[in-house]
Amino acid sequence: MIQIDDLPVRDELRGKSPYGAPQLDVPVQLNTNENPYPLPEPLVARIAERVAEAARGLNRYPDRDAIELRTELAAYLTRTGGHRVGVENVWAANGSNEVLQQLLQTFGGPGRTAIGFEPSYSMHALIARGTGTGWISGPRNEDFTIDVEAAVQAIAENAPDVVFITSPNNPTGTAVSAGTVLALYEAAQAAKPSMVVVDEAYVEFSHRDSLLPLIEGRPNLVVSRTMSKAFGAAGLRLGYLAAHPAVVDAVQLVRLPYHLSAVTQATALAALEHTDTLLGYVEQLKAERDRLVTELRALGCEVTDSDANFVQFGKFPDAHEAWQSILDRGVLVRDNGVPGWLRVTAGTPEENDAFLDAVRELMKEQK
Ligand code: PMP
Repeated sequence: MIQIDDLPVRDELRGKSPYGAPQLDVPVQLNTNENPYPLPEPLVARIAERVAEAARGLNRYPDRDAIELRTELAAYLTRTGGHRVGVENVWAANGSNEVLQQLLQTFGGPGRTAIGFEPSYSMHALIARGTGTGWISGPRNEDFTIDVEAAVQAIAENAPDVVFITSPNNPTGTAVSAGTVLALYEAAQAAKPSMVVVDEAYVEFSHRDSLLPLIEGRPNLVVSRTMSKAFGAAGLRLGYLAAHPAVVDAVQLVRLPYHLSAVTQATALAALEHTDTLLGYVEQLKAERDRLVTELRALGCEVTDSDANFVQFGKFPDAHEAWQSILDRGVLVRDNGVPGWLRVTAGTPEENDAFLDAVRELMKEQK
């Protein structure tokens, strides 16, 4: 049988597997940091209305610059992010994965490198690979915070072209302080200068404020966001960034024309009309996240402090075995390959109870 490696694929793709969390059909799915609440019915109706309107114009290409959508995203950021941004500061694409890919196509690429502080979001390294950008794995402290001194040293030594800072970090849930971002930004500018990308996919769930205000006066700093988590719209595929207008101009050199379909733009605009309702779910999820932390600790687990809609817990002698044991009880969590640790997404109270019951039984077994 002819397989991938029999094809003339690029050398760096040989022997590799695609990214993908298992999509298993089990009763309780807490493995991909999705929002457990379906979109509210009035919003579903509004999406249908706006999409119908868009459908009437589908014979034409969509607004290539997504002006209305970027204007509304800028208004959302201005209202919630502690910093005033306009349409010229905002760019949108199909999920923040595509935003990150466009950033690496623009600022990375063959002969260039990117650094991330691991464990972190594994797609950063994979998007680097897909865009021909070299990847450098930077260090973290034992407690999963960024080791600022070691990170600054790694940046000085490697002079990467792109620095990824994920706050809150996936899979650990760890938020990053403005001071740490500034220290890394200074180091990155002294070494190269390079772009610093702050991935804030989960920031709406954080105890800390957004790092968005840091873009002021720092043209090489980008904040990346998504509607997949707080807006409960992972299926929509809408991510965006905020940065200096020059960055927005630069990514347009690599974006495919008309990359955001008219249907996507209409749906995202409808969702933004319902921001307040959706952010209400975020408050419920934050409370559930805090409950998971407290109850997992009461069960004897180690738990990393979380600013996200998920919680990293452990430590298990064999994390994969623990993952399987929880799955055997009908609950799917995530084994990210961090030795000893697993990650659970905050679900509905009922889903979280089912998860906690499974862990309670697992902990009894392990005694
Ligand atoms: N950044 C981080 C840190 C993530 O965890 C994820 C999703 N798991 C993304 C970006 C990408 O999300 P999306 O493409 O759905 O916006």
